[in-house]
Amino acid sequence: MIDQQTASVDINFIRDMLKKNKGKMKLSLSVCAHCSLCAESCFLFNAHHQDPKYMPSYKFIHSIGTLYKKKGKVDRSMLEEMSINIWERCVLCTRCYCPFGIDIPSMIALARSICRSQGVFPRYD
Ligand code: SF4
Ligand code: SF4
Repeated sequence: MIDQQTASVDINFIRDMLKKNKGKMKLSLSVCAHCSLCAESCFLFNAHHQDPKYMPSYKFIHSIGTLYKKKGKVDRSMLEEMSINIWERCVLCTRCYCPFGIDIPSMIALARSICRSQGVFPRYD
């Protein structure tokens, strides 16, 4: 049985997933003006005393943004680190609003799918 904590990451698989979604994701990452306006609509940001790490833009930049920046060349510890942003700091409620039309939940959802494909996801048992 493969130990998911030490198993290597399938970089080619991650790259394929990134490639399939490249158009929309790259556009969204490039359009983001880092204006922080989306933060106001995230209840978790407000519930955590406006901690910048709960800003929707922080969460997608430090997950799917990192994956594209590194061209999928990430290791397990990096995936574990980004999993905090996309699970512990987001419930995918889809309430975040971006005046530039960026679909923030879809970016976080893709990052979740990629982490999950490598066995990185929260375990509640
Ligand atoms: S996602 Fe939209 S609202 Fe949030 S920082 Fe980027 S441009 Fe501003
Ligand atoms: S989807 Fe995530 S980032 Fe957007 S408002 Fe909900 S908890 Fe916040």
